[in-house]
Amino acid sequence: MRYIEPHAHMVSRVTDDYEAMRLAGCAAICEPAFWAGFDRSSADGFYDYFCQLTDYEPKRAAKFGLPHFSWLCINPKESEDMGLAREVIALIPEFLKRDNVLGIGEIGLNKNTRNELAILQEHVDLAVRHGQLILVHTPHLEDKFKGTRLILDLLKADSRVEPGRVIIDHVEEHTVDMVLDAGFWAGITLYPESKATPARAIDMVEQAGMRNIWLNCACDWGRSEPLAVPKTALEMSRRGHSSEAIDHLVYGNPLRFLSQSPRFRLS
Ligand SMILES: [Zn+2]
Repeated sequence: MRYIEPHAHMVSRVTDDYEAMRLAGCAAICEPAFWAGFDRSSADGFYDYFCQLTDYEPKRAAKFGLPHFSWLCINPKESEDMGLAREVIALIPEFLKRDNVLGIGEIGLNKNTRNELAILQEHVDLAVRHGQLILVHTPHLEDKFKGTRLILDLLKADSRVEPGRVIIDHVEEHTVDMVLDAGFWAGITLYPESKATPARAIDMVEQAGMRNIWLNCACDWGRSEPLAVPKTALEMSRRGHSSEAIDHLVYGNPLRFLSQSPRFRLS
């Protein structure tokens, strides 16, 4: 089996996870910038983090033959501080020149506040001005439906945004159709406790169809499963899905979306 892990926070994982993912058939890992578990005290903290994502982490992955790519931004949680957010956004263009950076992400909303929306808009503007792909985080639980709607309205209001170059991640049963119907890609995140279990994810895919959906583990420092994508593929196989269909979902789809960036190469 082969698969691409399009959303994993490897800076918070041990090196053994790289080996396990490689052994399970992983062909590439993509790492969006996220909240580190604490609020950083200055833009310098983000500068160092962007260096870690674009320099150190790809070297760690390369030891296991894994291409590693990243997405850059200030996450929605910390973007509540608009002064800090603007300082961080000003750092990003320099890093967009690096040949393992795929785009702007994971931007989006956390608590659906006015400040978060303003910074989301500024990130979208940065992405379109630099011709970058966009990866969007949608809020958790009770904020998800409203947050997803706000994000889609903001993106649709900007005529420069091409929906096929935007992935809306962490969709659930009540948000997947509105994302796909508007022409965006949808990401289903597999978590042991919150977000989707493998069974729920496959139910969603069976209902919504496989076009323009990717699966990801979004593993981080919390309880999460770096092998969630291959484990879900196994569950699909148990349900009788063909190996071609599984390959299409876990390898072909992320390959098709990510290849819109000329930087995404598997060898
Ligand atoms: Zn994430």
